Amino acid sequence: MKKILKFLFLSLNLDFFIRKFNKTPRILFWHGVDFIKNNQVEAESFHVEDFKKQIDFLNKYYEIISIEEFYKRFIEDSFTKKEVVLTFDDGYLNNLTVVAPYLNEKNIPFTVFVSTEHIETGELFPTSIARLIIFGTNLKEISIPTLMINESKISNSTEKKEIYNLVSFALKNSPVDKVRDIVDDLKNNLTKKKYNLLVQSYSSVLPMNWEQLRQLKEQGATIGSHCKYHICCHKKQNYNVVKDQIQQSKVILEKKLDYICDFFAYPNGDYTLESNKFVKESGYKMGFSVEKKRISKSLNNISAIPRLGVPSDLDSLKLIMAFYPKVKFKAYNI
Ligand SMILES: [Zn+2]
Repeated sequence: MKKILKFLFLSLNLDFFIRKFNKTPRILFWHGVDFIKNNQVEAESFHVEDFKKQIDFLNKYYEIISIEEFYKRFIEDSFTKKEVVLTFDDGYLNNLTVVAPYLNEKNIPFTVFVSTEHIETGELFPTSIARLIIFGTNLKEISIPTLMINESKISNSTEKKEIYNLVSFALKNSPVDKVRDIVDDLKNNLTKKKYNLLVQSYSSVLPMNWEQLRQLKEQGATIGSHCKYHICCHKKQNYNVVKDQIQQSKVILEKKLDYICDFFAYPNGDYTLESNKFVKESGYKMGFSVEKKRISKSLNNISAIPRLGVPSDLDSLKLIMAFYPKVKFKAYNI
């Protein structure tokens, strides 16, 4: 039923009318874009052709502006309400090899939020590791002692999904020390050699290194911070750890890339009152969360400006852009 409604809605071009009505500046975010072999393993990446269609649609019907211009208009309260800002989280190598060539060719500005420890060490992001081990191998059993998972069966897709959901929830909701332990446990299910071969066979999960990030910046992308390690800044994290992650990632980026890092995006969108304070105190001009809320100078905290996650295909993006953020909304205080 939903599919039929979606088909009718789009084939009658009704999104065209709603687009005229639901005007608001929007900040969108993707992660990676690549030539994908396995949707479950590479769930953070978009298919190249789908991404290109989405960009062409946005470029045709919206005003794509840089994050610097967005900040200026926010401060001046001078939005045309047709603005779209393109952002990419984590710092995947394909942002340099796939995203940048397409956007640069069209002179479209974009921002990449990177986690500096992953740039430094090449360590994959925690959920990428979980997906690789659970969906990308033929393991029949898996052990993750930190989560009291011992030799649990993952021999079919239902079992794999169940374990993945459990692990993903733990990775997103645990303190960073426990996240690191879970990651070590996950890797221990394979020999080092097998793990390295597995990583090599899925290049879309790779983060950039410093030289590659420097190239991306020199080509015109804005580089923002996404913490040092990819930690979620929720209430279960230690206060000082969050402070260090927010402050020091800025220091490291500025030293390595010789610029002023003005923008910060929360991994997984999680923030607290304290973390918002750290964003301000660290000297960022603006911080970004992940919420389907409207953007306006009077409603939003400058340390947690809402962003919309882009769905995987063009039709779903058209619907998101037509209906979200919803026009009726409650004012909120943070
Ligand atoms: Zn992230």
